[in-house]
Amino acid sequence: MSSGDFSIGSKVWPGVSKVIEEMGELQQVFGKLIGAAGGINHWDGSNLREKLIEEIADLQAALDFFKSVCLTFKENARIEDRVRKKSDLFRQWHRDPVPLTDEHDVEVK
Ligand SMILES: [Mg+2]
Repeated sequence: MSSGDFSIGSKVWPGVSKVIEEMGELQQVFGKLIGAAGGINHWDGSNLREKLIEEIADLQAALDFFKSVCLTFKENARIEDRVRKKSDLFRQWHRDPVPLTDEHDVEVK
């Protein structure tokens, strides 16, 4: 049995399915973290901080694989440049957050 398209080992965008799978797993951890009000001990017995580390690593590995196999050197250089710019912007936002106004409040009835 051979790998399906988009899977690691295929000839059509190999690794796309793994990236999607790992994004979903990281989303699940974030969802549990939000559901636990930021606490790291989830009701299912898992340590969310440990799961977070695992799933970030899994997603990073999946993205690294996809980029190395599917994208050119120049495209990877463009990604690295954009990552630097976005990271600088996010750090700036974190240092100097814009306060929310009342219009962002949602009234619960
Ligand atoms: Mg995973």
